[in-house]
Amino acid sequence: MPSLLIHNIGSLATPETQDRKRLSGNAMSNIRTLSNAAIVVENGIITRISESTDFFANVPPSTQTLDAQGMTAVPGFVDSHTHTVFGGNRANEFAMRSAGKTYQEIAAAGGGIISTMTATRNASHEELYVIAKKRLDTMLLHGTTTAEIKSGYGLDAASELKILEVIRELQKTHPMTIVPTFLGAHAFPPEYRENRAKYVDIVCEEMLPAVKERGLAVFCDIFCEQNYFSLQDAERILQAAQNLGFPIKLHADQLSASGASQLGVRLGAVSVDHLECTTLEGASIIGASETIATALPGASLFLNHPYPPMRALIDAGGAVALATDFNPGSSMTFSMPMMMTLAATQMSMTPEEALTAATLNGAAALMLSHERGSLEVGKKADILLADVEHFYELSYHFGMNHIRHVIKDGKIITNGKVIV
Ligand SMILES: [Zn+2]
Repeated sequence: MPSLLIHNIGSLATPETQDRKRLSGNAMSNIRTLSNAAIVVENGIITRISESTDFFANVPPSTQTLDAQGMTAVPGFVDSHTHTVFGGNRANEFAMRSAGKTYQEIAAAGGGIISTMTATRNASHEELYVIAKKRLDTMLLHGTTTAEIKSGYGLDAASELKILEVIRELQKTHPMTIVPTFLGAHAFPPEYRENRAKYVDIVCEEMLPAVKERGLAVFCDIFCEQNYFSLQDAERILQAAQNLGFPIKLHADQLSASGASQLGVRLGAVSVDHLECTTLEGASIIGASETIATALPGASLFLNHPYPPMRALIDAGGAVALATDFNPGSSMTFSMPMMMTLAATQMSMTPEEALTAATLNGAAALMLSHERGSLEVGKKADILLADVEHFYELSYHFGMNHIRHVIKDGKIITNGKVIV
């Protein structure tokens, strides 16, 4: 791969680490900023970052150059919580909700997660692949260079494996770095509504071993909530996953302070996600742990729910990540900058903390912070060029896409559209 020199970068902003790990507590504000910067990339790895361009003359003649025209460089966004592979469309439910229908009324009319489950079960591998690829292309254009994708709309062994196989094909063909997560315990399928224990057995004894055997997921996740999977179900499923070697994540405290986030901390979860109903006491427990707290403010905005207590979590020393929770029911967005806007306006996070949460700490929530999530020498070159003068504008000037170029693993892959 030819070397790449990006020069004439008006300003550069990146989380800065000592150890290539997450940033926690006060250190989440550790943003390194440079003016008139240049970045050199060799073999997909950042080899030099400088304020001066005096090394311009020393690069080999074969080096590709990219004039940033004074734009701002930040690390590629890491969206560490998405449900990108699903069939169907629930725009009609959006209209029903806007007209005042309740969730129960929408579900009774055939809507809700079960409608997505049915559409996903009925879609072929190829159909799901085509839909998901188009979604990933759009995410890339909005600056997301790494995304986690969960299964969870199949809810039977064959359909869950089908979704994970689609994710595997996307991993092989799409330039984005994709991390697959098994979420068979997303909801109870209708056929087991009266026999929930049997479905938990199937997840533990049938699905998890099959996912493990085929190597189809990095993480195991669960939706732990009243009327979904109980704390007891969650502990059983997550321990079965850990026994098979899966690191774990939880959808925790979204609708009630159920104790799910504490369970996650006790089991050593890599992240606990949502946390809308986490108490201040709960925030201090997570903040004192190694578990990353992932805020999904798109769901709070869309459902008109409270926002999670991320200020308290950071003040308690915690590491916060931001993700979109892209899904058809509660957060139909790809925009990581919009999550940064919500972090700053609704969760009392500073723009510095929001940038760290959307990049480095997202990478840490996917166990990738050793190689992605910040612009540092030795890391993979996932770089965004945004048409703003200062990175604050990414969240301040909200509701639009400022990203003009995406460099992924050292390759320029977007120029208004995906070009590979
Ligand atoms: Zn989710």
